[in-house]
Amino acid sequence: MNIVRTPSTLEKLNLVGDTTAFEPAGDTPVAEVRRKPSPAELPCITQVATPRGPKSVMKSMMTTACERNCYYCPFRAGRGKTPRVTFKPDEMASAFDGLQRQGAVDGLFLSSGIIKGSVMAQDKILDTVEIVRKRYDYQGYVHLKVMPGAEYDQLRRAMELADRISINLEGPTDARLQALAPKKDFTVELLQRLAWAHELRSQGLRASSVTQFVVGAVGETDLELLSLTEKLHRQMSLARAYYSAFHPVVDTPFENLTPTLPTRELRLYQASFLLRDYGWNVEELQFEGEGNLRLDLDPKRAWAESQLRHQPIDLMRADRGELMRVPGIGPKGADSIIRARRKARLTDLGQLRKLGIRAPEQAAPYILLEGGRPPEQLRLF
Ligand code: SF4
Repeated sequence: MNIVRTPSTLEKLNLVGDTTAFEPAGDTPVAEVRRKPSPAELPCITQVATPRGPKSVMKSMMTTACERNCYYCPFRAGRGKTPRVTFKPDEMASAFDGLQRQGAVDGLFLSSGIIKGSVMAQDKILDTVEIVRKRYDYQGYVHLKVMPGAEYDQLRRAMELADRISINLEGPTDARLQALAPKKDFTVELLQRLAWAHELRSQGLRASSVTQFVVGAVGETDLELLSLTEKLHRQMSLARAYYSAFHPVVDTPFENLTPTLPTRELRLYQASFLLRDYGWNVEELQFEGEGNLRLDLDPKRAWAESQLRHQPIDLMRADRGELMRVPGIGPKGADSIIRARRKARLTDLGQLRKLGIRAPEQAAPYILLEGGRPPEQLRLF
């Protein structure tokens, strides 16, 4: 007689594995996705940089079953190779509490496939986090996925319980989303939820919103992605856009598509930080003919090559915004330069290094010191 044993919760977590690898939980997604867990760690534990500092976060899904059919996704309905694992809210909350009390994790990222509709799937996520917060009195970092089509009151509850919520747009326009995920509705199911989250923050809720795009599967351009990112930062107080370079998954409709170069993902992150943290407009980024960023240069250097190479800026006179346009000089570096030049003239790159600018030679082709361009090599003595 064959006796079928029910797997334990930890065995189920192992089965789910790092299946949320394509959904970053922290602030350095490129590092997060590429990092392999040590053999002693559960694959659902990931080291991430969160708004509350670096943390070991448990990333998991309430269920790996799904009734939708997004073309790129390993959990899509009908894919035979995916182990389907489902947790009850009590079970997931208790597993997290156990790991948290052992000191193995200090943070939770919870997502889910969709079974019996988005509202039901969202309820299971919310029920789990209610238990984590109330029964187990966990006050630490929680990041929740908002299901496409979740209700307003569910979004409110998610934002009351979590530090951060993800509402993943996947594509930058309705047409791009249709090509990726024909059962998702860009405007009604997704964009509307980002607008609600913005409205709820204006009423005093503090949870931040992030979104994610699948990059490179359906011909979207960097210009499309970054134009929408800029609008979301400015109009919907988006905290962060994640760009996930497409990787084909076997036994999905996209299994034969070419994977996206990781460099494209990196350039999108670099450009998005210029939009979010440096006050750039998307029109200032340098796009090639088809609307994509150059892969061979980071976007700030590409701009400096076209704008500053022949018109370098005088480090003693430039304002803060101008200083931050120079490759190698960020907000802190610009502030240090402004403070230092009030006390003494800046005459060589070595002074910049002493001010905390780590690679002043990167700035050298685009600045003037003492009326001339500094040599690009730092003097050793
Ligand atoms: S709804 Fe989410 S889990 Fe389901 S197929 Fe689409 S991306 Fe995958």
